[in-house]
Amino acid sequence: MRDFSQDHRWLSINTATVRKSRGVDLPLPEIIEACARRGIRAISPWRDQVQAAGVSNIAKLVREHGLSLSGYCRGGMFPALDAAGLKAARDDNRRAVDEAAQLGARCLVLVVGSLPGALQGRPAHKDLALARNQVGDGIGDLLEYARTAGMPLAIEPLHPMYAADRACINTMEQALDVCDELDPYRSGSLGVALDVYHVWWDPKLQQQIARAGGKRLLAFHVCDWLTPTADLLNDRGMMGDGVIDIPRIRGWVEEQGFAGYSEVEIFSTANWWQRPHEEVLDTCIARHRSAV
Ligand code: ZN
Repeated sequence: MRDFSQDHRWLSINTATVRKSRGVDLPLPEIIEACARRGIRAISPWRDQVQAAGVSNIAKLVREHGLSLSGYCRGGMFPALDAAGLKAARDDNRRAVDEAAQLGARCLVLVVGSLPGALQGRPAHKDLALARNQVGDGIGDLLEYARTAGMPLAIEPLHPMYAADRACINTMEQALDVCDELDPYRSGSLGVALDVYHVWWDPKLQQQIARAGGKRLLAFHVCDWLTPTADLLNDRGMMGDGVIDIPRIRGWVEEQGFAGYSEVEIFSTANWWQRPHEEVLDTCIARHRSAV
């Protein structure tokens, strides 16, 4: 297992972590400058932040600073009510692949979606099996496109508390079943993004990490699970402040040959997004060394 205690060369910042500074939106170019100043070598930006600044502007900034992209957030949200909705999702996902390729990302992260309308508080039906079928079809279709673009797709299983609205793939096992079906020969073009926040509780976690193997472990996201958790989406903890044994999970992942970045991804309306982003980044660096 790699020693993270001496430096932060394997730290990546998911830019949602500092999307706000003192409660105010922080533009992506400023986030990039702040990361570069601290010797942070990788980021994982969100599409809305990239689009606000312009894809080619960000691609240029990333190049100028010699940054790597541990991922691009995100594609997915495949299920829809009708053919037009499915096609809109397909087209949007293809654009996400193109952007990820233009930015030179390691992978496009997929949050796959679930019941149409649920995210807006108006689920159109209760047929989770249908949603899962549409997700399988959507990933299968996108995979062809992504292969041509040379962009690996990373399915991110989300904690079951998001099963209705954000993702109907909730465990590593489910995600890997999809990988087995769509990419049985392990071409490297389809794998998983393992986020400790979503999967730390899973009794099959170690076993499924071994099943994934190095070839399918495309991204490793870290933060911590707070007790109590005040908000289902936006109360993620800084590494070391919660109950996830992050080094243990990182050990399992690295045992399989994963040697990529450890990406900090924290959504925190009431705490970290209220602080100055400089403090948040400095804390990420310190905790990367001591708690990851
Ligand atoms: Zn994540």
